[in-house]
Amino acid sequence: MYRPLFNFVKRRIPRISDTEMIALQSGDTSIDRSILQGKIGYPMAFDGNIHKFKEDTTNQLLRSFDGSRIYPNENNNHWIQRLAKEKYFSFLIDEKYGGVKLSVNELSNLLTKIASVDPALGVATMVPNSLGPGELLTIYGTTEQKDHYLPKLANGEMIPCFGLTGPNNGSDATGTIDKGVFIRDKEDNLKIKVNLNKRYITLAPVANLMGIAFELEDPENLMGKSGITVALVERDHPGLIQSTHHNPLDVGFPNGTIKGEITLDVEQVIGGEENIGKGWKMLMECLSAGRGVSLPATANASSKVATFGLFHYIKARQQFRMSLAEMEAIQEKFVNMVVQTWIIQSSVDMTNDILDEGKSPAVISAIMKQQTTERARMVLNDAMDIQAGSAICKGPNNFLEKFYKSAPIGITVEGSNTLTRSLIIFAQGLNKSHPHIFPLLTSILENNIGEFRIHFNALVVHSFSLYVQSLGWGIMVRESSLEHELVRFATLTNFVALKGGALKKEQMLAGDMADQFSNLYLAICVQYYQTKTNSSHVLTNYIIQQLIMENRKIMNRVIDNLGTERFLLQHLKSKDSSPLYEEKRKMFQEIMNNPSILHEIKQHIFIENNILEDLENTSVVLKEGNVDTDLRNKVIQVGEFENPI
Ligand SMILES: Cc1cc2nc3c(=O)[nH]c(=O)nc-3n(C[C@H](O)[C@H](O)[C@H](O)COP(=O)(O)OP(=O)(O)OC[C@H]3O[C@@H](n4cnc5c(N)ncnc54)[C@H](O)[C@@H]3O)c2cc1C
Repeated sequence: MYRPLFNFVKRRIPRISDTEMIALQSGDTSIDRSILQGKIGYPMAFDGNIHKFKEDTTNQLLRSFDGSRIYPNENNNHWIQRLAKEKYFSFLIDEKYGGVKLSVNELSNLLTKIASVDPALGVATMVPNSLGPGELLTIYGTTEQKDHYLPKLANGEMIPCFGLTGPNNGSDATGTIDKGVFIRDKEDNLKIKVNLNKRYITLAPVANLMGIAFELEDPENLMGKSGITVALVERDHPGLIQSTHHNPLDVGFPNGTIKGEITLDVEQVIGGEENIGKGWKMLMECLSAGRGVSLPATANASSKVATFGLFHYIKARQQFRMSLAEMEAIQEKFVNMVVQTWIIQSSVDMTNDILDEGKSPAVISAIMKQQTTERARMVLNDAMDIQAGSAICKGPNNFLEKFYKSAPIGITVEGSNTLTRSLIIFAQGLNKSHPHIFPLLTSILENNIGEFRIHFNALVVHSFSLYVQSLGWGIMVRESSLEHELVRFATLTNFVALKGGALKKEQMLAGDMADQFSNLYLAICVQYYQTKTNSSHVLTNYIIQQLIMENRKIMNRVIDNLGTERFLLQHLKSKDSSPLYEEKRKMFQEIMNNPSILHEIKQHIFIENNILEDLENTSVVLKEGNVDTDLRNKVIQVGEFENPI
């Protein structure tokens, strides 16, 4: 009886490419799985060593940073050299090789602090501590490779970068990637000849150890292995050209090209002969955790700085004989900033705890990358509007400009957000996060009708039970609660999943589903953060309700766009609603009057001898009922430069 069903489902499943299958098999699941089961889940709070890398070392570095661009510059790449020598590039490398291997929590907080001073300094620190030679060698390197390279990377003698992208392979990372081919040299040794044409590579202009990815072909069957391969090349390698750099929006970090025709030994492949053709799997496995750390940490930095700075600025700046903080239009925008910043910091915190449990949650990492960078851009847009002229004119008091310029970089790198939202999080993520779809898919691909029967039955029971719960039967949760939203979303997911492979083309639908999925994850994070910090019930409830309202709007749209199945889903539609003006007013008062909120926002950003410190001091004076006109005038000043003659 299952055969016709098996054949029917087989026809509906999408064609899955090898690269996609590897992506699906990489990493694991966590809270994303419980969301699709219609349940709330939390990680264990991390309680490991949090100050392995001395805080004062970082404070000294940041204190001495003069705001100059770190690349290109005339000081011999002083900042890169200093970061390397002081072990800032060693946070993924084990102690036995001289590294300072940090927990995810500590690494994330440190990156936030460094990026809060300067995004370029943040990017330069972030890259060696995410996907690249250090991580790849640690996980996949041969003993000889580890012993040779890891100590040099740890002590800063070697500066790494990782080159995957080229003019013809951007989002489709392996599509038309550089080619390599097995050859025999004059002495009849087996070698690999690679034609490199990499662009956009961060740290490439200053790096002396490059991880490079290419498609290795073996037309003469010299090795009998082929496929995407990752190898290491040193700066002075014959034929290698590192002569040009890009200028990413004047943010000021090294980024450039790696080109040339080079010949490699098989030993230069990371992991040696064994790992030829396994490059894509290696990259996907690393990214399934890594995407959830560095870019979210930098999004956290920019949002915290903007919100902390604006908290004080709107009290200090006066127009129409009142402070900006007294104007409702400003209050509305500022509440939005706090809401988004709180979502970012809560999700960074919870995701760090998930990762410190040793998980590699591929879908959650994609959600974090896309949502935090996107929301950080919203924070900056509101901040720019509020700070107005003084955010536009450059100068030492302008604490927004550098983040505003660098926001699109986080959006674009490590899987551009448009693709991540509309293809990766839900369209592909569904297969991974759903409790029954991937096992069902595997049974079909393996032509195993016995397994198919088991998983199909489990899927039917799961879908039916969720559907009944979504009708409000047999559940003990409040209609407006987060638990109820999870059941509703998981129910909708089971219907949307029937689209099968069509979801990859229906990207508006996949994007809307991704947003709901993400919002639920973020709402759980906000709840988790409140349980941990007990900062503000009012703010927590407000944000969760706002995320639920956003989801309900999207859910209505999704149902309206479905086919006949929409008639079975009418009970999931809701009245459109948004927070009342009065709720926003109350929220603003809570933000200004509950010191725990600002205390949390201030965590992990550097406030010393800078405009943020001046702004904070202005608030202190104002709170004491005094007005320090000099200080107030100081914080509203903008840069003035001599005119050219
Ligand atoms: C500052 C900077 C630093 C970088 N650092 C590195 C590095 O160190 N190493 C490295 O290897 N690479 C690096 N990159 C490359 C980066 O990962 C790519 O820019 C990114 O993958 C996007 O590729 P692209 O810019 O060519 O955009 P394209 O691939 O041309 O994409 C254009 C648009 O189409 C969308 N899109 C593409 N395909 C789909 C689809 N199937 N469905 C829906 N939408 C889609 C994208 O989301 C994007 O919005 C860096 C890039 C920049 C700008």
